Amino acid sequence: MNDSYAVIGNPIAHSKSPLIHAAFAQQTNQSMHYAALLAPLDGFQPTVENFRSQGGKGLNVTVPFKLEAYRFSTHLTERASIAQAVNTLKFERDEILGDNTDGAGLVRDIETNLGVPIDNKRILLMGAGGAARGVILPLLQKKPALLSIANRTPHKAEALQKLFDTYGKVTSGDFMHFSGETFDIVINATSASLHDELPELPIGIFAQTGLAYDMMYGREPTRFLKFAQQSGARKIADGIGMLVEQAAESFYLWRNIKPETKPVIAMLKSII
Ligand code: NDP
Repeated sequence: MNDSYAVIGNPIAHSKSPLIHAAFAQQTNQSMHYAALLAPLDGFQPTVENFRSQGGKGLNVTVPFKLEAYRFSTHLTERASIAQAVNTLKFERDEILGDNTDGAGLVRDIETNLGVPIDNKRILLMGAGGAARGVILPLLQKKPALLSIANRTPHKAEALQKLFDTYGKVTSGDFMHFSGETFDIVINATSASLHDELPELPIGIFAQTGLAYDMMYGREPTRFLKFAQQSGARKIADGIGMLVEQAAESFYLWRNIKPETKPVIAMLKSII
């Protein structure tokens, strides 16, 4: 029987992960099956236990279960432990290994796919939810000059600053706190784009040579990306590359083989 994997979330029907992992499996000749698993909002643990008892080997975890997956893991990678959020589970004997591949996916998309080095850059990270939490350490490990965290509810950004400021120079505040400052890379990790909203950003925040990155993706550029372009950001990108790169990291954890991401990113862009 093929090894079995899935993405678990609620809702889950929209997930592109089954398509991505099917493409990886075909490309690398892996005999595996990958499905989408809907868990009731109060039923994460029993759904995972059931999947595992039927021989499931691993899960990707998406909204709203990343924190529960963190608590459910018996072992954690360093990046998942520090982020306190898990997006990948691997089942081996009695062990449940929790990892977080979101940050590695984002960093790889920015540096390798988009060709924008992070070291010595001024970065503004918008948002202080699960996605932001997962990417802070991998970003800081690339040695930016500064990582500023801006959030609508500033105390959440402050809490993240406290959690991570031993790993690099980190500041925090609400969006207007950064008025008068300019950033080389501005990353939108809020869920505002999901609702076609634009956080209220100060004028002049985008460096004219800079990159604006929205973790959200879709057929059209988000309002944030359009605003960044009008404000002079030289490069804009949505989160499709991050989605495929974080999936490739999970695939590697499970199968110990690195898939080619470029053709899968191109395939997804053509069907979205
Ligand atoms: P969470 O619900 O955990 O966090 C949401 C964040 O967005 C909070 O910081 C919240 O601020 C902020 N926010 C929501 N609405 C607004 C608004 N109108 N204006 C300003 N701020 C707002 O979500 P996640 O962190 O899990 O996800 C964030 C985004 O990242 C989603 O769009 C998700 O799809 C995307 N994502 C993409 C991935 C990829 O691979 N491309 C991977 C993971 C996530 P407050 O604290 O004030 O409520």
